[in-house]
Amino acid sequence: MTKKLTIAIDGPAGSGKSSVARLVAQKLGYVYLDSGAMYRAVALNALQNGGFALSSESELEALARDSRIELRPVPLSLQDPCIHNRVLLDGVDVTQSIRTNEVAQAASRVATVAGVRKILVAEQQRAGAGGGVVMEGRDIGTVVFPNADLKIFLEATPEARAERRWKEHLEKGEHLKLEQVLDEVHTRDKRDTERRVSPLVRAADAVLVDNTAMDEEETARLIVLLARDREAKLGKDTGVVA
Ligand code: C5P
Repeated sequence: MTKKLTIAIDGPAGSGKSSVARLVAQKLGYVYLDSGAMYRAVALNALQNGGFALSSESELEALARDSRIELRPVPLSLQDPCIHNRVLLDGVDVTQSIRTNEVAQAASRVATVAGVRKILVAEQQRAGAGGGVVMEGRDIGTVVFPNADLKIFLEATPEARAERRWKEHLEKGEHLKLEQVLDEVHTRDKRDTERRVSPLVRAADAVLVDNTAMDEEETARLIVLLARDREAKLGKDTGVVA
C-alpha cells in the first residue's frame, strides 16, 4: 500500500486554492480540509453577536475558544464549485453564510489575532493528524504542517484573482464592481502578508505553481502528478511497497 500523504496548499485569496485542493483530494481519494472556513466561522460568530468582538483581541480569542467548528466533507454528488466543506458552527449549518464578502473581510481581521490562530491551528492539526489529507490555507506548509509530505504555494496575478472572486460573487447574486473586488484582494493580500503572526509566506520547500493561465483542472492534475511522485518516493523510503 502507498503511504497516504499530508498535502499543504497555501496561497493568497483567489489563487484557486479551495477548488484545486478539493479536486486534488477527490482524485487521490483524500480528505479535503478548508482551514479558512474556520477563521470565517469565528468571524461570522463575531458579526452575529453585534461585531463588537472584532475590535477586541481577547474577546475574539474567547469567541474562538467557545466556538465549536466542524468541517464535514460534502458528498461528491452535492458539490457546488463554491462549497467544499460543510461547516457547522455550534451545530448550526453556516456553510453558505460564511461565504459573504463581509465575512471574508472580517475573517482576515480575526486571522491577525495570535490567540485565535493558536486555537484554530491546534484544531487543524488534530483534524489532519492521520494523513491522507489536502489542507488549504495561508500557513499550512509553514505552521500547521511544517513537515507536510508535499507543499504547494499557489499564485496568480491580483487581476486574475480578483476576476475569479468577482465571478464567484456574481454566481451567488452579489453584484460587486470588479475594481472594488480588486481593491479588496489587495487589502487582504496586504493584511495576510504583513501580519505579525503567521504571515502568508511561501515555505522554503514549497513548489511554486502560478496558475494565472491555468484552470482548476489543469492545476489539480499537476499537483496530483507531484503527489504520485512523492508517494512513490516515500513508499520506497519507508520500505512500503507501492
Ligand atoms: O481562504 P479564505 O478566503 O476562506 O480565508 C479567509 C481568511 O482567513 C483569509 O483572508 C485569511 O486572512 C485567513 N486565513 C488564515 N490562515 C489560514 C486560512 C485562512 O489566516 N490557514
